[in-house]
Amino acid sequence: MIGSRRQFLQNAALWAAGAVAALAPCRVIAAPTFLNDPFQLGVACGDPTSDGFVLWTRLAPDPFDPMALPPEAIAVNWEIATDRAMKKIVLRGQTLAHPEFAHSVHVDVNGLAPGREYFYRFHTGNAVSRIGRALTWPTPRAPADQVRLAVASCQAYDEGYFSAYRDMVAQDPAFILHLGDYVYETTRAVPVRRTPVADAYTLEEYRLLHAVYKTDPDLQAAHAHCPWVYMWDDHEVANDYAKDQAEKTQDPATFVKRRIAAYQAVYEHMPLRISARADANGRAYMFQRMDYGDLAALTLLDLRQFRDRIACQTEINHGGRVVDTTKCTEVTDAKRTVLGDTQERWFNTNFIKNPAAWNVIAQTLMLSEFDQTTDGGYGVFTDSWGGYPAARRKILNLVRDKKVANTISLGGDIHSFFVSNIRDNDKDERSNILISEFVGTSITSESTNFDLYSGFLPNNPQIKFFDDRKRGYMLCDVTRAVWKTTLRTVDDVRVRDGRFATLKTFAVENGKSGVQAG
Ligand code: FE
Ligand code: CA
Repeated sequence: MIGSRRQFLQNAALWAAGAVAALAPCRVIAAPTFLNDPFQLGVACGDPTSDGFVLWTRLAPDPFDPMALPPEAIAVNWEIATDRAMKKIVLRGQTLAHPEFAHSVHVDVNGLAPGREYFYRFHTGNAVSRIGRALTWPTPRAPADQVRLAVASCQAYDEGYFSAYRDMVAQDPAFILHLGDYVYETTRAVPVRRTPVADAYTLEEYRLLHAVYKTDPDLQAAHAHCPWVYMWDDHEVANDYAKDQAEKTQDPATFVKRRIAAYQAVYEHMPLRISARADANGRAYMFQRMDYGDLAALTLLDLRQFRDRIACQTEINHGGRVVDTTKCTEVTDAKRTVLGDTQERWFNTNFIKNPAAWNVIAQTLMLSEFDQTTDGGYGVFTDSWGGYPAARRKILNLVRDKKVANTISLGGDIHSFFVSNIRDNDKDERSNILISEFVGTSITSESTNFDLYSGFLPNNPQIKFFDDRKRGYMLCDVTRAVWKTTLRTVDDVRVRDGRFATLKTFAVENGKSGVQAG
């Protein structure tokens, strides 16, 4: 029986060819008997299209015991219905949960109707999962009137409870956009609750980390509620990593192995397509454009994997720090890239193709400039876009030269709400606003920069609002006429029953760039 350590029946096992490409033929357990619920990590739906989505689960009857399941594939059945009671089944199938991918299940579903609600669940042996809710998107470029999305980022498990997701589910978004730091590789503060891994380096350690995060009931409920669209930031691998280098001194080849392990653990725990799995060169392709009818085109950018190393490193710190750009000239090198050649070429073509009512750059940092000095000079945090001004400028030039209207940037990383008007020239208040930006605060990860950052604001007139004193997320209500962003907060993430409030609401009118108090 599966569920107690190394005890399992083999009578139901049979030999079969591997059903997943590139995996060798393997032994398959067709009808396992589980002692513990194998669906403890929940279910999820991701990357919706107009005719499908990816369904995810992972068999983990004992999530913290890597030996809990035998090294064999396990057959898993899935079904999709149009009703919550799962009576009107429209699609069903069988797939294999492979031991090489921690018995995770990814079903790339297509052939469904656009703009519809669906429900799904998994079966294996004697176990049945909870029912999740999925939605297909309207057909690209077909009329779509409105959508509500929630934007999350930065959820250190040990720093608090994920109660923000409870409020998010109550607000009933059509999808949740997660902009990275879904897990943290290391413990950064006095823990409110503990993870079993102090510092993740190996695949086994990253798996344990993801498993403990997925046990949070509010996070599970948010995954079951609606599809997610996800882009990683740095902490899924290591703080402030850039391409082949992390903050702390490590040989680049060793770091790349760590990165590949971390990417695999992400794939194993998220509703992602197979392209998100690292290829033979260790690269995983997460950047993509998604169209919500003709209402919003969402372009997700990977700002970590392909970027140049962080500028002006010290011998012991390869991560970000605030430098004066007049002293650290490496920052302003015109050749420095954030997107890398392939992603940049792809972005230049795809971002301008078939503009929607709203053209959204979903990136994981803050695209607005942020001069972090009070005494002259120009202070940038080298891990941020500020450390790559030439790469940032290329994005602004594209929006300006191709006249991409109604461009919205959504970001995270900085554990603060920042609302900004990104102008062609930030130093000139009469210069055209190219992008309206909303950066969301963290789900739990702390920030203690209120006084420090507030002191920089007089030098940064492009920033219209800043507050880092509360944890929370953003809720965006999008119609053809108005993009409305509501900043939602949780009063205390150190308790399970935090209370929710609206901190502020902002709006951008169609055809009129720039944020207004809403
Ligand atoms: Fe973070
Ligand atoms: Ca980050």
